[in-house]
Amino acid sequence: MTTYHGRCHCGQTEWETKIDGDAHILCHCNACKLLSGSEATLNQIANEGDLKITKGSTKTYTYYGDSGKPVNCYYCPNCTSHVYHHQTVLGPKIVVRTGLLQGSKKFPVAAEIFGKDRLSWQPELAKTFSGPPEH
Ligand SMILES: [Zn+2]
Ligand SMILES: [Zn+2]
Repeated sequence: MTTYHGRCHCGQTEWETKIDGDAHILCHCNACKLLSGSEATLNQIANEGDLKITKGSTKTYTYYGDSGKPVNCYYCPNCTSHVYHHQTVLGPKIVVRTGLLQGSKKFPVAAEIFGKDRLSWQPELAKTFSGPPEH
């Protein structure tokens, strides 16, 4: 477990989180494409109690995932950077956006999920699951 410091684009919101695995998990799902305006998002799993907002506060956007269960997205109310998502189907685990953590530029890619939605020009970089990660 390593503690990382995160900061949104505008600097109004900051946080600290502990993640288990200094690596990005790429998510190619269609919700990530729409929410990020990009091909994939960079993520890692954390325990809900291991992320704390140290400056500012977050707003929440909720959508319903493939499981039919709500996914709560916590973001900076000013610049809309996404800090983390809570897929309620995962219980007390949250999905941290690793691309916003200081020091994460050197992280390798550990795995890819929702490979079925990967765009044709995006190369495979790591072990890919076609849908959600298998537990
Ligand atoms: Zn912000
Ligand atoms: Zn996704």
